[in-house]
Amino acid sequence: MTAKAQSADHRIGRFAPSPSGPLHLGSMVAALGSYLDARARGGSWVLRIEDVDEPRTQAGAAQSIIATLTDCGFEWDGAIVRQSERTDLYRDAFERLVASGAVYACGCTRKEIADSALAIDGARIYPGTCRDGLHAGREARAFRVRTNNAPVRFDDRVQGRIVQDIEREVGDFVLLRADNYFAYQLAVVVDDADQGITDVVRGTDLLDSTARQIHLQHLLGIRTPEYLHLPVAVNERGEKLSKQTGAIAAGRESLAEAFAFLGHTLPRELRGAPPAELLAWGVAHWDAARAPKARAIPVPARED
Ligand code: GLU
Repeated sequence: MTAKAQSADHRIGRFAPSPSGPLHLGSMVAALGSYLDARARGGSWVLRIEDVDEPRTQAGAAQSIIATLTDCGFEWDGAIVRQSERTDLYRDAFERLVASGAVYACGCTRKEIADSALAIDGARIYPGTCRDGLHAGREARAFRVRTNNAPVRFDDRVQGRIVQDIEREVGDFVLLRADNYFAYQLAVVVDDADQGITDVVRGTDLLDSTARQIHLQHLLGIRTPEYLHLPVAVNERGEKLSKQTGAIAAGRESLAEAFAFLGHTLPRELRGAPPAELLAWGVAHWDAARAPKARAIPVPARED
């Protein structure tokens, strides 16, 4: 194979945690799954701190996530990318969308949208009130992208065929928020393209966002990566593990748990082995087909 052919084939995966708290088992699963999936195919793996939503960023969380990943033997390629330093890139993409007529100003308050039907992700479906222009006396608060009712389809490598009519199920969604921050949906699409990501491996909590991201990729003329959504870890009440639901911070012991969660049972002789050895075993044995197809898997509470 020539060098050129090799590079065309090169996979690039990523782990993109939001620094809203320390890593927990659920985010360790996404870190491990994305790492093994990229490395098992000789690919690169990059780390991106998704702190675009500054109001939700917790001081010290990014350092804590990086320290845990390092302690668990993960090695990423290149420099760590931080969304808070990339506003110019998001603005460029936003302006391209504005110039193409895909974006409009919205003057609706949260309260005004509160009566709309619930979207799949628990937010409200935007009824399109400002689509044809701001009503008299209204000021622009946020900027939304037009959706159209052609359903977006994609084949998730684990969850199978997904079809979503964004206009009906989500509505025109926000790209620039009322508090002047760019929305995650825009930032993630711009970053994945800029970093040449070929494979997005993450939790099913983002499965319903994927159609929105593909819609933006189409509007921006960006290639759509492959998607693989892993089940999310939930507590006994069915809530996604997070700092808010009282999940405990992940450590080395979570790495072995994450392997089991992903359907990969570590051999006995690796019990207690250094994390780098567990990861090396994982790279040699990763089989995405063994990842459970479920959207969520309950994990027993740990006493510590
Ligand atoms: N930053 C998101 C999170 O921590 C993940 C985004 C993604 O993987 O696309 O939930």
